[in-house]
Amino acid sequence: MRLLIMGPPGAGKGTQAKFIADHFSIPAISTGDIFRANVSQGTPLGVEAQRYMDAGEYVPDEVTNRMVRDRIDEPDAEPGFLLDGYPRTLAQVEELDGMIRYTGHRLDAVVVLTVDQEAIVQRLLQRAETEGRADDTEDVIRRRQEVYADQTAPLIDVYRERGLLIEVDGLGEVFEVTQRIFTALDVVPES
Ligand code: AMP
Repeated sequence: MRLLIMGPPGAGKGTQAKFIADHFSIPAISTGDIFRANVSQGTPLGVEAQRYMDAGEYVPDEVTNRMVRDRIDEPDAEPGFLLDGYPRTLAQVEELDGMIRYTGHRLDAVVVLTVDQEAIVQRLLQRAETEGRADDTEDVIRRRQEVYADQTAPLIDVYRERGLLIEVDGLGEVFEVTQRIFTALDVVPES
C-alpha cells in the first residue's frame, strides 16, 4: 500500500499514522519527525530546517523533496509506505507523483482527518505544554494553521478529483478514529 495521511496540524495524524502503518506492515514516514531528528542531531539539514520550523513556515520544497526521495528509496519502503506530513504543497504533489511513477507503482489512497479548527488549536496548546515543542507557541500554532489553509488544504481537492480521497472524522477517542480509518481503508484494493 502507498498511502498518505493529511489533515491540519494537530489533527492527530502522527498517532493514526503509526496504527495504519503497523496494520499494513509498512513504514510510517513523517517529514516532521525526520526534520526534528535532524534538528536534535545538529545535522546541516537540521540547521537549515529549524528556522522555518520555529517560525511555523514550510521548509523549502527542494530540501523536503530530496529528503523524502532518499527515504522512500530505502529498502523498507519498497513494499509500500504511509507518508505523514508530505506532500504539503502542489509542487510536492508533482514531485511525489514522479517518485511513485518511477517505481512503477501508484498511490492507493489519501486519508484526510477532518477536525474542528478551535478543537485543534486547544489540543496543540495542550501538546505544547506537555511536550515543550519549540515550534508550539500560540503565534506559531496560528501561523501553522494559516500556512496549512493556504498551501496544503488545496491538495485535498487534487486528490478528491483523482478519486483517492478518504475523509474521516478525526474527532473522538484515538481508537474510534483508528476504527473509522480501517473501515474506510478496507474497501481500497491493494496495488
Ligand atoms: P509536522 O510535525 O508534520 O507538523 O512538521 C513540523 C514542521 O516541519 C512543519 O511545520 C514544517 O516546518 C516542517 N515540515 C514538515 N513536513 C514538511 C513538508 N512536507 N514541507 C515543508 N515543510 C515541512
